[in-house]
Amino acid sequence: MRLDRFLSETTELTRSLAKRALKREEVTVNGEVVKQGAVQLDIEQDRVSWNGATLELVGLRYVMMHKPTGVECTARRGLYPRVVELVDLPKAERLQAVGRLDVDTTGLLLLTDDGHWSHRVSAPKKRCPKVYIATLATPWSEAQAQDAVERVAEGLLLDGEEELTHPAELEMLSPTQARLAITEGRYHQVKRMFAALGNHVETLHREAIGPLVLDESLAPGEWRELTADEVALF
Ligand code: URA
Repeated sequence: MRLDRFLSETTELTRSLAKRALKREEVTVNGEVVKQGAVQLDIEQDRVSWNGATLELVGLRYVMMHKPTGVECTARRGLYPRVVELVDLPKAERLQAVGRLDVDTTGLLLLTDDGHWSHRVSAPKKRCPKVYIATLATPWSEAQAQDAVERVAEGLLLDGEEELTHPAELEMLSPTQARLAITEGRYHQVKRMFAALGNHVETLHREAIGPLVLDESLAPGEWRELTADEVALF
């Protein structure tokens, strides 16, 4: 790896600021000042320091968060704070949400900088179920609930779409509370599915993604890194 790239991967320096740090003779490789960003490093062997501090490459990171309401999953700064701002890890900006949640949705959110892993979790072909708890505005009778369960199992036509949703599993926990497991990730899918069934989602919470369930010890806004076993689930 080139030295200037290594510096931008391991510090807050951009590539051009890294070049300036090199010119100012702030960087050493194995104790010797190096001024050329193009120098190739052996990242297993070479010891790089900036202003006396040894730099380490960060490996791939995998985070589970209990997403609170009022934060956005987008990478760009917008109206709301972003989920990455809650994560106190070096280069947290590089983490991306694996399957976004709406700003008002709570629950299990995965973040990673491993694009392949993210794809394994979220690619529709993998049919990995995402499990949501929805609170509904209008209570359903038993007959309405039964009808909804059957329609969800058959697939629904969402407003503005031409293809039915994949068969999904709906379980009514009370007249206004439902658990829904879907294997796709269409735009606002859960809210639109309940809209197609004539109801309205008031609150939405994701409790699981495939075999990974939200850690009960995480309060809204808290996060932890996944264990190696959890990462290996996908
Ligand atoms: N479906 C939605 O409608 N919103 C979410 O946040 C996630 C799934």
